[in-house]
Amino acid sequence: MTMPQILWLRRDLRVADNPALYHAAKAGPVVAVYVLDDEAAKHHAYGGASRWWLHHSLESLAKSLADRGSRLILRRGDAAQELTRLADEIGASTIHANRHYEPWWRKAQGRLCESLDLQLYDGNYLMPPGSITTGSGGQYKIYTPFSRAVRAAFPPRDALPEPEIITAPAQWPVSDDLADWNLLPTTPDWAGGLREFWQVGEAAALERLEWWKAHVDDYDDKRNFPSLDKVSRLSPHLHFGEISPVQIWHAFKDRGSKGWETFESELIWRDYSQNAILQFPAYATQNYRADYDRFEWRDPATDEAAARDLKAWQQGRTGYPIVDAGMRQLWQTGWMHNRVRMITASFLIKHLLIDWRHGEQWFWDCLCDADYASNATNWQWTAGTGVDSNMFVRIMAPLSQSEKFDAAGYIRKYVPELANLQQPEIHDPEEFGRRPRDYPRKIVSHKFARERALAAHKAMKGD
Ligand SMILES: Cc1cc2nc3c(=O)[nH]c(=O)nc-3n(C[C@H](O)[C@H](O)[C@H](O)COP(=O)(O)OP(=O)(O)OC[C@H]3O[C@@H](n4cnc5c(N)ncnc54)[C@H](O)[C@@H]3O)c2cc1C
Repeated sequence: MTMPQILWLRRDLRVADNPALYHAAKAGPVVAVYVLDDEAAKHHAYGGASRWWLHHSLESLAKSLADRGSRLILRRGDAAQELTRLADEIGASTIHANRHYEPWWRKAQGRLCESLDLQLYDGNYLMPPGSITTGSGGQYKIYTPFSRAVRAAFPPRDALPEPEIITAPAQWPVSDDLADWNLLPTTPDWAGGLREFWQVGEAAALERLEWWKAHVDDYDDKRNFPSLDKVSRLSPHLHFGEISPVQIWHAFKDRGSKGWETFESELIWRDYSQNAILQFPAYATQNYRADYDRFEWRDPATDEAAARDLKAWQQGRTGYPIVDAGMRQLWQTGWMHNRVRMITASFLIKHLLIDWRHGEQWFWDCLCDADYASNATNWQWTAGTGVDSNMFVRIMAPLSQSEKFDAAGYIRKYVPELANLQQPEIHDPEEFGRRPRDYPRKIVSHKFARERALAAHKAMKGD
């Protein structure tokens, strides 16, 4: 009972319903450690917005553990090596961790198993990824049958209470100082909008859940309207594991409203995405449909006009108000409304004819909820390159989307140049002759872009 137990934390920065913490605390004194391992993830090392979130989330968890007489130890480097070193230092042989499915974490888990007793638990999904199988024992590839099978297998596990006591080890190992990791931006400090928009940490996640209880029933009708505050905004809390989906599910399971049913489907999309990367580890970097490897994208590395267009998209200066509002919301707050993520992603891929992977990387850097699985699944879905995806030839019309989902208020908020415009011209100021001087012309016309995209698709198919 006295041998210290290492608790390896990654995207599970909470004390309640944390299976790894719960079992470590039962087994002996706990040494909780977070290892910042940027090398392993390569192109998917955390981007700027995620690093900002991570800083505050670690700070909050460290405080929470300190309130319980424990500590959070911080180390930096190759996770498997650092954990092995820590185990040597403190005389531990067991590491408790929740399972994670990003390819670099699966590798690290595999290496640790070779030298230490690695106890892995399922903590971050409604159902353990890989556990929902088809009649013949295979993995589901398509969302709808997957979600049906998930619902048939419900209920998910019960949420675990936080441990009654977290025993401290006889001696604490040394820890890095969080400030030395430089996760926060300084020159310039671009995080003002993030600070205004978010409260970070487990307590904030639980508060957001309480707020959401008053809104979830409206979710089905209102979730697509970006001007309304009618989505949960729980995504970064879920990504960093400040709250588990199981906690959310149990909070709503008896609602019986259409709003909850639709919201539950979104949580199942999150599970589905993990199942996708479990089957296709390179999903964030490779087309699932190999014929798209032949697609003739405009390449910003070699084509100046494409490079200009990519920049205009990133900066929210495309001349399409709904696209620009979304991209500026992303830059200011580290988050974007889901409907607008779909519109902006489709615009990059189909209107600008730029490979979805450029968008995936930009979102990766700018989103606080940047998630290897969910980002890849949604980009490949939008591009038509994924295992389950929208057809490429279905091309979203951003201006009609903006009208249909009543985005005027949203545009006024994020594109101040258009703040004085009313409906309907706010959706397309150029068309109505109301474009203010400081707002750009459309960088491409919808009709031209649509025809160009369809022709490129046809060429890829060899028709
Ligand atoms: C191009 C693109 C990229 C995206 N990248 C990410 C990403 O990196 N990380 C991320 O968490 N989500 C991503 N999404 C999915 C979705 O947009 C966000 O999860 C959602 O907008 C987060 O806001 P919310 O918490 O208010 O969601 P809500 O609408 O309140 O949904 C509740 C939760 O369900 C999950 N969820 C909802 N929609 C999806 C979905 N389509 N796929 C997977 N999970 C979903 C999220 O965990 C979300 O917090 C992306 C969508 C698109 C179109």
